[in-house]
Amino acid sequence: ESPEGRTILEFRSSLPAYKEKEAILSAILRNQVLIISGETGCGKTTQLPQFILESEIESVRGAVCNIICTQPRRIAAISVSERVAFERGEKLGESVGYKVRLEGMRGRDTHLLFCTTGILLRRLLDDRNLIGVTHIIVDEIHERGMNEDFLLIVLKDLLARRPELKLILMSATLDAELFSSYFNGAATMKIPGFTYPVRTQFLEDILEMSGYRLTPDNQIDDYGQERIWKMNKQAPRKRKSQIASSVEDALRAADLSDYSLQTRESLSCWYPDCIGFNLIQYILCNICEHERPGAILVFMIGWDDINALKEKLLTHPVLSDPSRVLLLMCHSSMDSLEQRLIFEEPEDGVRKIVLATNIAETSITINDIVFVLDCGKAKKSSYDALNNTPCLLPTWISKVSVQQRRGRAGRVQPGECYHLYPRCVYDSFAEHQLPEILRMPLQSLCLQIKSLKLGSISEFLSRALQSPEILAVQKAIEYLKTIGALDENENLTILGHNLTMLPMEPKLGKMLIFGVIFNCLDPILTIVAGLSVRDPFLTPLDKKDLAEAAKSQFSQDYSDHLAIVRAYEGWKDAEKDLNGHEYCWKNFLSAQSMRVIDALRMEFLSLLKDIGLVDSNTSSCNAWSYDMYLIRAAVCYGLYPGICSVVHKDTSFSLKTMEDGQVLLHSNSVNARETRIPYPWVVFNEKIKVNSVFLRDSTAVPDSVVLLLGGSISKGDTDGHLKMSGGYLEFFMKPAVAN
Ligand code: ADP
Ligand code: MG
Repeated sequence: ESPEGRTILEFRSSLPAYKEKEAILSAILRNQVLIISGETGCGKTTQLPQFILESEIESVRGAVCNIICTQPRRIAAISVSERVAFERGEKLGESVGYKVRLEGMRGRDTHLLFCTTGILLRRLLDDRNLIGVTHIIVDEIHERGMNEDFLLIVLKDLLARRPELKLILMSATLDAELFSSYFNGAATMKIPGFTYPVRTQFLEDILEMSGYRLTPDNQIDDYGQERIWKMNKQAPRKRKSQIASSVEDALRAADLSDYSLQTRESLSCWYPDCIGFNLIQYILCNICEHERPGAILVFMIGWDDINALKEKLLTHPVLSDPSRVLLLMCHSSMDSLEQRLIFEEPEDGVRKIVLATNIAETSITINDIVFVLDCGKAKKSSYDALNNTPCLLPTWISKVSVQQRRGRAGRVQPGECYHLYPRCVYDSFAEHQLPEILRMPLQSLCLQIKSLKLGSISEFLSRALQSPEILAVQKAIEYLKTIGALDENENLTILGHNLTMLPMEPKLGKMLIFGVIFNCLDPILTIVAGLSVRDPFLTPLDKKDLAEAAKSQFSQDYSDHLAIVRAYEGWKDAEKDLNGHEYCWKNFLSAQSMRVIDALRMEFLSLLKDIGLVDSNTSSCNAWSYDMYLIRAAVCYGLYPGICSVVHKDTSFSLKTMEDGQVLLHSNSVNARETRIPYPWVVFNEKIKVNSVFLRDSTAVPDSVVLLLGGSISKGDTDGHLKMSGGYLEFFMKPAVAN
């Protein structure tokens, strides 16, 4: 064996999972279902599937074994398969492969396949018994993602039909009992682990020890979210969000008598809705200048605040010096070069700093971390079933997540963890995060249940590990009927059938489909991509007027959606002359968002080709029409029933929806600056409930658009109320052709 091969073997055998190899393999032989838990980094994901593969190859069954290991995220599926192939001294696509949406690498001899949970669900569509598969490993089940919970219901049925099939569930934290009882008392195993102690500091400790002062000024937003990242765009400094006020109560009740007056004053200036970039920079700098060697992991919220922080840090003399600091990012859309760098040890004297999302909490282990900074927040979708209102706001994490984050610091030696929020706020965190199935809209899930022909939606969901509320299920079914994806008997329509093949919210999928039908796909691709990223229009508080003026030049049409199209087109032109960045700067646009929109457009187009809705020869989008009328119609048809009526008064107007009564336009909307809307309807992408209901991203629509779609308009006495039926909808309401 090569020296490299030996060191890999040494590394592998040093992992806690390796010491349990025989015990794990024999437990798998004896049990149909096995639940394995073990601390993050102990070797579950990279070693366990390998153990099975190796032992099957050694035995006579090698040629027939077929192991599928699912990951909640595509980045994990790819990086783990690369790692395992590397550990086996092979190229990817030999015995180890991967498959994610629109991408994959596998060969004739691939016996171990890493894939996303979604891919396995797709496979079940054509092959409900998973013929030939010998082992299914479902990883990261502690995350309780919607797809994973869904898959478990399906697999539970499948195990009865396939008694020789093995199911292994892997989890970072010990929730073993819940899963074990779900699978009729299945066997459980815990891989013992070891971590060094981690010294913990909450915000008050950080302030007390460092003497750093929080003032209103060093937390105020300025251009490009440079200094702080505001979590909630609705919450300018005066009006506090709900998060802020519940935190305020906790702070008021906290006993801080042991802390100095300066610390207490500082804490009263702390904004719970923000991430203080200045404080982070201060701590990072302090560690770099005064602390022992060791990498730093910073838990941020998402791709956008990570980018904004990185840009800020790169202007700092110490942190931007490549001979002292290696600054990296770890999030779900990083490329594989950057991914490799986060695992590598930097040169002597260079300190690695990784800015990460909660992906680094359990699914990616970076070994040499000694210092952790934790902002206490993560981007989580939540959902208000009663108001049918989804919201994608950063929220506080759970206590379990805090422990996970802290634990990242103690893998190689005693570590340090800085929590950037007060201890009393931590005390108010929930123990666990609610599983997605209990807090997310169920529309896509319901469509999947139907496309897998799993019978009645409510009956199926009643067999989940934890069943969603009946009200939430009913709302989802009702919505799918309203948009024409399900017929009266809950059967998939043609539209519904097409939507199941587009992995996005049904309304966005529907908008794409109508973009195709109305021959205006190009601008619709931009709109759908734009709605999938954070607001591409930046609104710094101190330059609010300028930013709004900049946005309004993109809109002469009473439409935020068309404003996205114009902004993107302008950026695209500027990019041709390499002026994209300057263009964004002048027009208060996020250059990052523009690049993501650009990439998503291509991805959506590939998806549409993949399912045959767009001719596979279509290479350029320019053949599509830019008829404003048709674009408006496609947007309207996608967003329906997200619609409200416009009621004009003398010099102003108000908006009403059926469910909420009067609603307000988000202050960022181009329509918020109008005094008159020349059309009777406004469609919107999203409702956000803060104190009132706010609409984000709206487009005004004339009656004729509704008529074009073949709908009928019925107006109530005073409150307009729109019901669409007939026309295109009728066409789609035909039952889907069985495939
Ligand atoms: P678990 O699934 O139990 O959290 P993993 O199997 O992911 O653990 O990781 C086991 C070890 O392998 C960890 O120490 C991790 O840092 C290391 N490792 C995983 N992937 C890579 C990689 N791509 N490059 C280098 N080391 C890796
Ligand atoms: Mg893992």
